[in-house]
Amino acid sequence: MARLVMKFGGTSVADIDRIRNVARHVKREVDAGHEVAVVVSAMAGVTDQLVGWCRAALKEQKVFDAREYDAVVATGEQVTAGLLAIALEDLGINARSWFGWQLPILTSDVHGSARILEVNGAEIVRRFQERHEVAVIAGFQGLHQETGRVTTLGRGGSDTSAVAVAAAVRADRCDIYTDVDGVYTTDPRVVSRARRLDKIAFEEMLELASLGAKVLQVRSVELGMLHNVRIFVRSSFERPEDIDPHGHPPGTLICDEDEIMEKQTVTGIAFSRDEAQISIRQVQDKPGVAAAIFGPLAEANINVDMIVQNVSADGKTTDLTFTVPAADYQRALDTIAKAKATIGYTRLDGATDVAKVSVIGIGMRSHAGVAAEAFRALAERSINIRAITTSEIKFSLLIDAAFTELAVRTLHSLYGLDRATA
Ligand code: ADP
Ligand code: ASP
Ligand code: MG
Repeated sequence: MARLVMKFGGTSVADIDRIRNVARHVKREVDAGHEVAVVVSAMAGVTDQLVGWCRAALKEQKVFDAREYDAVVATGEQVTAGLLAIALEDLGINARSWFGWQLPILTSDVHGSARILEVNGAEIVRRFQERHEVAVIAGFQGLHQETGRVTTLGRGGSDTSAVAVAAAVRADRCDIYTDVDGVYTTDPRVVSRARRLDKIAFEEMLELASLGAKVLQVRSVELGMLHNVRIFVRSSFERPEDIDPHGHPPGTLICDEDEIMEKQTVTGIAFSRDEAQISIRQVQDKPGVAAAIFGPLAEANINVDMIVQNVSADGKTTDLTFTVPAADYQRALDTIAKAKATIGYTRLDGATDVAKVSVIGIGMRSHAGVAAEAFRALAERSINIRAITTSEIKFSLLIDAAFTELAVRTLHSLYGLDRATA
């Protein structure tokens, strides 16, 4: 007997048929004698619609009250949790739905991107043991204890709910069921020759996720690493009846580095189009300028990523280029413009049609020249690199968004990641 957390994402619960299919996946594990907690997302498209309604309800103000945003968007998961509990009962399985405040899942009060502080799994564990009851938990939401208000964990947050629940109930495994059958060398929807990885190290998955691969929310990987949760990414689209609960289904295990025998230099490629570039032209090259630029951005809670500084065309001053999330682009421009007097520059330029392509692999620690190969390969395809950042196990390149797919495909082949047949 094992204790499992099974998480099902939006497309896996997109309609009633799919929810009934999920119920059969759960039944398979219950019938095999396992104790099961299920974490569900909102039905596909529902969260987007709820976010859209929040925006539409606003006329006079620019930003809505994040507490009310959470009150609205948290409802999507509640519907799925109740429906799945009904579908399970229909199959003769004891099941009960749980919202964030009921367990509770306690979080910080940063509405819209709250962090989980504590999950109380005592009651669901008692019910596993006493009633063989399946817990169906609404993902993405929690409770801020002091104010008693509902919070949400940021887009894709049900992954994090699942891993946090797995840590709390000391589950043997956290299975993340989604619309692909594992973690691939890059997004399989973009590169058809992407290969599924049997295993990937936590550190690499952390980079992949934070650099754009949305298959897992970054925070879920962090929590998995911290609490040693075995996360297994697999498909919900296999027929439940075809799966041997004691066999080895296709999927990807996120695990410690030492569990991986075959270490490749490059493990995967991530990309993100949610980037914007800002260039501040002809800044005085003197101490304190960087602080004058990045201080106000930090105060405005804007994350600056890649930073490049080079000599301006006049040879005397300097140009500073950096990237921010596309969603913060206008705010960042406004913030810089407001600080113009203290910074002292002549022109402010920006672009949103840029993309960041990142190459990731723990093997890079011990291999030199990996990035140089990429520069050459992209130059051969006339892809201009606007900015570069590197760290121990990854490097990122900022390019024109129009070349994203070409760049990803080029690098995927360059590092030997292509599947033998398309
Ligand atoms: P869910 O609704 O189940 O949470 P998501 O849409 O959040 O699913 O994440 C799954 C998607 O992540 C896949 O459909 C795929 O397009 C995308 N994806 C991006 N990069 C990768 C990758 N390296 N491996 C697998 N899937 C990836
Ligand atoms: N429903 C939420 C979202 O769409 C959370 C999730 O699916 O993980 O972002
Ligand atoms: Mg997701």
